[in-house]
Amino acid sequence: MTSEVRVDAGALHDLLRAVVAATGSAAQEAEQVATHLLEANLQGHDSHGIMLLPRYVDHVREGKLHPNVTPEVIRQEGSLALFDGRMGYGQQVGRIAMDWAINAARTHGHAVMGLRNVHHIGRVGTYGEQAAAAGMISVHFVNGVSGAPAVAPFGGSDGRLSTNPVCVTIPPAVPGGQPLVLDFATSAIALGKCRVAFNAGRAVPEGALVDAKGQPSTDPGVLYRDTPRGALLSFGAHKGYGLALVCEILAGALLGGATAWRPELRDRGIVNSWLAFVLDPARFGDIEAFRGELAAVIADVKASPPADPDHPVLVAGEKERITKARRLADGIPVDATTWGNLVAAARSLGINDVPPVR
Ligand code: NAD
Repeated sequence: MTSEVRVDAGALHDLLRAVVAATGSAAQEAEQVATHLLEANLQGHDSHGIMLLPRYVDHVREGKLHPNVTPEVIRQEGSLALFDGRMGYGQQVGRIAMDWAINAARTHGHAVMGLRNVHHIGRVGTYGEQAAAAGMISVHFVNGVSGAPAVAPFGGSDGRLSTNPVCVTIPPAVPGGQPLVLDFATSAIALGKCRVAFNAGRAVPEGALVDAKGQPSTDPGVLYRDTPRGALLSFGAHKGYGLALVCEILAGALLGGATAWRPELRDRGIVNSWLAFVLDPARFGDIEAFRGELAAVIADVKASPPADPDHPVLVAGEKERITKARRLADGIPVDATTWGNLVAAARSLGINDVPPVR
């Protein structure tokens, strides 16, 4: 087999839906999870797409991920709610919790939503896009616990935090326009990329890793071979570390979710906790003035002469839309290992009808 295959989005969607349904999910949940994972690949975030599904299948089998769960309301006071995700599929439970926050923001002008103890919620931008489609601004802080933490605090030398993502989305300035979707992990690079590099015997870029003595390294073996192991770094030195830390506190600690420092919580599959703020921009005054200013600010930054003429200035969310258009047309590239793992997971559930690849 070649090192990469290409598969059409429609056929892949069918396979993903069938696999999730075979784990016990009702049709609507299977559709929700499949659509979310496929969209991550379409937008170029392969680390949060189909690659995860075999792990989800294992977690269902191990009783760490529960199909067909709805969030439990722990507290609800006006525009504030705290939900417990009961370790359901994050893509499904998260969408339900976001629906609540969007409706509450329609009523109150703003909403604060906490969701704890949910299995992996995937690409956080999905929920920002959900808010933006409803005309809402949204801000998200998420923490995660899955095994021993891999990300070192700034100046440290071992893993204390996860890749805790932050997301901010702003609805389009004009009807039919595109939202701004700022959505990133706070680690310098994805943990999955270190594993892939280690398996391939390759180095990772400078600035991403330290060894167990806190010294800079480009060798992913510091994470997967060395004892004691080294750590992944946050992006932007102390600044990314600061964001990762507030995710841990605002999402994990504040909501009563899992926090990475507790060893007893590390073997529960993937546990996310998530604090979201949803704001109705119309409640701040003149919405048309805001939209005009938003369009002008974006136009101004994009008018900066590009350092490289082949790479014009983009704003958050654009790169993903460009990638999606290309992948819808040309098919989704999937590395052979990921494809093999997905096909094996499908077959283990009795699904032998896998789509053709190019
Ligand atoms: P990334 O480093 O690719 O950064 C993505 C962000 O940068 C996007 O907003 C994108 O539009 C913007 N961007 C990229 N190139 C740009 C350019 N040239 N100009 C302007 N903006 C640009 O993303 P990442 O850190 O690898 O994160 C990938 C995904 O992983 C995210 O969707 C995140 O939510 C998800 N994630 C989830 C969890 C979880 O626990 N659920 C944990 C970590 C990450």
